[in-house]
Amino acid sequence: LPEYAFIGRSNVGKSSLINMLVNQHGLAKTSQRPGKTQLINHFLINEAWYIVDLPGYGYAKVSKTSREKWEKFIRAYITKRESLQCVFVLIDSRLDPQQIDIEFCYWLGEKQIPFSLIFTKADKQGMTTTQKNVAAFKKKLGEFFEEIPATFITSAEKGNGKDEVLGFITEVNKDFVVPTD
Ligand code: GDP
Repeated sequence: LPEYAFIGRSNVGKSSLINMLVNQHGLAKTSQRPGKTQLINHFLINEAWYIVDLPGYGYAKVSKTSREKWEKFIRAYITKRESLQCVFVLIDSRLDPQQIDIEFCYWLGEKQIPFSLIFTKADKQGMTTTQKNVAAFKKKLGEFFEEIPATFITSAEKGNGKDEVLGFITEVNKDFVVPTD
């Protein structure tokens, strides 16, 4: 079945977003404690596709060695998984473009892995600030990519952006071809 991965810096709102998408509180564990998701979790949706909850990047509180080990593991997963249709890169809509997010997108581009952007926590500030940060991020990506990926703005607090993200997944699922092995 097709898979859609969700990844972002710790505390970006990944668990909250996943719970919003599947209407199930507590499915993906939300936490104030950064670095809690230590494993790759799969959630089967409508018996049709999988959400892949990837551990976040950019934890400050774990050792360098264990961080690097995880990075390697996540990158290996992303590059080898044939049924992976799209990686959703979650970005905190409150912030200016962050180097770590930009670099991760560049890496996906280099590896030719399809990805989309989800700007989270849009309820936390006015739409003008959100739009400014989204535009700045896209501009940064524009230095590297000819085509800017699909972009979504969400709020798990208000339930915004859910239909757009699910609609996108439904569309991509239509083109899913079962990998040969
Ligand atoms: P994760 O570490 O990326 O899985 O992030 P969480 O989903 O656990 O969220 C981190 C913190 O941000 C929690 O305190 C959430 O309640 C809060 N949060 C997540 N999404 C939103 C949102 O859309 N709006 C607001 N206001 N807060 C959010």
